[in-house]
Amino acid sequence: MTAQIEMAVRGPEAYSLARDVITDMEKVGVWPTPLNFELWLHYMGDPDAPLGREIKRLLAEKVVINDETAELLAAEFLPRSRLSEDIRDAGAVLDRELANVAGAIAKAHKTQADYGETLVAASQTMEAAEDGAPLKTLVGGLTIATKRVRRETAILEKRLESSNKEVARLREHLEQVRRDAMTDALTNLANRKAFDERLERVCDGDDHAPLTLAILDIDHFKRFNDTWGHQTGDQVLRYVSTILSRVCSGNRFVARFGGEEFAIIFPGESAGAVTMALETILEEVSSRSLRRRSTNDDLGAVTLSAGFAEHLSGETASSLLERADAALYASKHAGRNRVTSAIALETAA
Ligand code: GH3
Ligand code: MG
Ligand code: MG
Repeated sequence: MTAQIEMAVRGPEAYSLARDVITDMEKVGVWPTPLNFELWLHYMGDPDAPLGREIKRLLAEKVVINDETAELLAAEFLPRSRLSEDIRDAGAVLDRELANVAGAIAKAHKTQADYGETLVAASQTMEAAEDGAPLKTLVGGLTIATKRVRRETAILEKRLESSNKEVARLREHLEQVRRDAMTDALTNLANRKAFDERLERVCDGDDHAPLTLAILDIDHFKRFNDTWGHQTGDQVLRYVSTILSRVCSGNRFVARFGGEEFAIIFPGESAGAVTMALETILEEVSSRSLRRRSTNDDLGAVTLSAGFAEHLSGETASSLLERADAALYASKHAGRNRVTSAIALETAA
């Protein structure tokens, strides 16, 4: 939640804002789930912010805002708040764990110190003792002290063992959170954030091996959604993603770049190899006549357009993206369902 919304939901207008939100959600047929409510708070709090604009666009296109769409919106527009909650929770558990362990160590430390003192006192008593001194009492005292140390050590060991388990569990949980934050919920591909980070990294690297970026976009997808509905459109996004994942195993990095757009980073491959991979993808996607799962309706085939550009030495990520995008645009312009290289485009110009 942004600071502005945080204030609004605790301010004098809070209840009237909440009522307006619920009324609007009911009006447009959106379930009042906690996530939808949060999205709507932001949307109605600032209808002209990117999230507001996107919701207005979806509503204008009569897109059903189901759980998946809501998750996508949240992942794109409310990423930090949801992620930071998870991280904050994990951090609090870790703090508690460390405090417990520190307490157990301090206690064991004190017992060890007491034990040391008992030993010193015993040895002094023995030195000062004459024959026949009450050795029995001495040994008895030492035995009690030894048992106490042993007990404390065993408790500490148990505590450390369970703490290790808890820390391992937390590490796994944080790793999952990190993975989720980098994954697109609908297609399971890397998301835009993961893609942006990867592209910056590879463009900044001083590796001189060729590096190619491709952008692919589903053709006339709006028409497809309008004809068959958004949910069937979602199935198509998953279908295309499966083919992309299959062709992009190994070093290739594939991501959902935006709504119906995908991006692939090809490290160390020639333009010929990239063209071949992209043509394979286009061919596979378009070769199958799709069927709607629920009704078995024949949906026809979908096609993709692609554009790619090779990274020039010292070129920024945004310039590379712009050139790949221009190549994609050329593919669209030339009739779609084809691959265009930025070089071919720039040479022709
Ligand atoms: P073009 O061939 O020029 O790319 O035409 P297009 O219709 O594919 O392009 P346009 O940008 O006009 O429309 C993109 C459509 O993609 C509109 C939107 O409804 C749809 N879309 C974006 N994200 C999603 C999604 O997550 N699920 C579904 N089902 N559709 C989506
Ligand atoms: Mg598009
Ligand atoms: Mg499109």
